Amino acid sequence: MQYLIGAGYREIGAGTFHYAHARARINMDLRQVHVTNLKGIGEKTAKCLSKLGVESVHDLLWYVPAGYIRYPEISAFSEMKDGEIAAIYGTVNKDFFERKNARIPVTTFTVREYGKNLSSVNVEMVFFRQTYLRSIFKPGMNFVFYGKILQKGNKYCMEMPEYCSLKDYQNKQSCLQGVYPLTKGISSKLIGKSVQQSINEFFPVEDSFDDEMRSANHLLSLSDAFRKIHFPVDANHVNEARNTLVFHEFYDFLSQIEESKKENTEAPSEYMIKDISLSESYEQNLPFALTNAQKKALSEIREDLSSGHCMRRLIQGDVGSGKTLVAFLSMADTANAGYQAALMAPTEVLATQHFEKFCKENEAYHLGLKPVLLTGSLTAAKKRSLYEGIEKGDYNIVIGTHAIFQEKVNFRNLALVITDEQHRFGVKQRETLAGKGNMPHVLVMSATPIPRTLTLTLYADLKISVMKDMPAKRLPIKSCVIGPELRPSAYKLIKEQIEAGHQAYIICPMVEENEDTSLESVTSYHEKLDAYFNGSVRYGILHGRMKAGEKNQIMESFAKKEIDVLISTTVVEVGVDVPNATVIIIENAERFGLAGLHQLRGRVGRGDAQSYCIFINGSGKSEQNERLEVLHKSNDGFYIAEEDLRLRGPGDINGIRQSGDMNFRIADIINDYDILMLAKEYLEKRVK
Ligand code: ADP
Ligand code: MG
Repeated sequence: MQYLIGAGYREIGAGTFHYAHARARINMDLRQVHVTNLKGIGEKTAKCLSKLGVESVHDLLWYVPAGYIRYPEISAFSEMKDGEIAAIYGTVNKDFFERKNARIPVTTFTVREYGKNLSSVNVEMVFFRQTYLRSIFKPGMNFVFYGKILQKGNKYCMEMPEYCSLKDYQNKQSCLQGVYPLTKGISSKLIGKSVQQSINEFFPVEDSFDDEMRSANHLLSLSDAFRKIHFPVDANHVNEARNTLVFHEFYDFLSQIEESKKENTEAPSEYMIKDISLSESYEQNLPFALTNAQKKALSEIREDLSSGHCMRRLIQGDVGSGKTLVAFLSMADTANAGYQAALMAPTEVLATQHFEKFCKENEAYHLGLKPVLLTGSLTAAKKRSLYEGIEKGDYNIVIGTHAIFQEKVNFRNLALVITDEQHRFGVKQRETLAGKGNMPHVLVMSATPIPRTLTLTLYADLKISVMKDMPAKRLPIKSCVIGPELRPSAYKLIKEQIEAGHQAYIICPMVEENEDTSLESVTSYHEKLDAYFNGSVRYGILHGRMKAGEKNQIMESFAKKEIDVLISTTVVEVGVDVPNATVIIIENAERFGLAGLHQLRGRVGRGDAQSYCIFINGSGKSEQNERLEVLHKSNDGFYIAEEDLRLRGPGDINGIRQSGDMNFRIADIINDYDILMLAKEYLEKRVK
């Protein structure tokens, strides 16, 4: 049975893994305990959980609620309203009915209000696919039912309500209930139950700090923090718990950086790349001159590559500053020296785009290099043949997603690894890829222009090239902040731009409509466009839940101008390059961090034409306008990052999970800046 995860699966004996055994091991590493060790989680559920990034009990504990709800007071039957979510307390009547042979088995019975007689108002309870209910709902028994009230004529019913005893309900009411980001096959209830079981079986968890340190910094023990983030009594608990987890997350991250710094500084390299003739002719063939920042970054890289030491460098450049080209030039020299170079992008869309661009230039400028694209969506047979080619050295430029560091890929002589948009990858992943070859040179490209103090902390293991200037000829993007009532003028701008042969992006925060109707969603947004354009606009839809192949197809059509307006979630944030797009509208801009918005805006202004960015503030709150004004005033990512840090508000309880910068599970480098500095201080104390 497989229960270990991490450094590859390991088979342990022939038997099963017993909890008693687990308990006996004090401080066992919960990263190593697979979720299938929990009751109620089989292979199938584990597969669904893995889509959420939850493999081990450790992952599960770190999978914190996105928000909380409190169960409502019990309503009288007379207060029931159609469509309302409510809890009612009632007695089961005798009319239990089961339709077992239907395609979907249905169970129904009615309930009268507790203490009332049979002729009072009844509510019908409807359950699907639950044929064991007869043994639970016996006539005369009392339950609380919680769910949506539906009124059909003068009858009330509830479909698939939650149910429990009055006492259990009162217990639930005394706590906040976590609401977790979910996927098909996983419910918040399942996560809550599994977390509770993990707490019972495996706590306390190891914590390297003592009470003195904790009370000095208002932190909890790690065990208490997990308990309180999953099962808080009030908002206070959530805040304490969150701060503690953020502290640990930063501390662990910085320790890894420290490790990696120790291992890599001044490590000798067997790859000395001195010949720069190919990148020089490549550069001369380009229809434009390199910017000064590109020249400087390139010369720093060349120096590293020829030094005899392993390069560990970060290029931090604002969106549109032309990082990709610097990467291509360095890869060209590496391949020309007889080695292999790999470029890894965080999404398939981006990897494909890089590959196509590289192939074009390779051909147009007669570089004679042998590029290959490696992504997760290729068939197994295709992958195998590509792996073979990579191992034999048939390819010297490998471009792809993290499929590149799948174990089966062996390089012949990998000398340079470049990761694009680093903030999407963890340090661990970077290290795995670096471990692929024989200590290759590593170049990291980040478009998150974070404040300098943060860069020095988060990238302490890397040397840094900052690219501030933009390619010449670019007109600054015109930006403005408006309320939803001015949406028609935004559409008018789109219309004019389409008529001039350009394209547009519209960004929405949600994929589908859900309870939170105040937010725009990608899948229903076209209704607005159709209404305005009378159906004459060609739109495409892009979001993270689509298959990689579908996403690529949409991006391709957009690049080929078969789509006028791309309606998308933030999946386009990461580096997509369609220079013909000149307008971007961001719905519910109040929901995004400034740095993220700046990234989104960077999708336009990539060609010679004037570009526009419209932020729609859907909150109706004017303090949001003030924050968004920063973007209106400036196109400079570094300045925006500083302002983001200055304007950061206290984290609010509804937004425990922050945006995905740097791949943290909970922490946010801007909002949790103080905690980051605290973690840094403690790490420095310990390292000394
Ligand atoms: P980013 O730094 O955001 O990754 P890209 O590398 O995607 O930016 O470059 C944005 C666009 O600018 C691309 O279309 C690229 O071809 C172009 N570009 C890069 N360098 C220059 C330059 N020196 N002059 C003009 N255009 C350039
Ligand atoms: Mg880029």
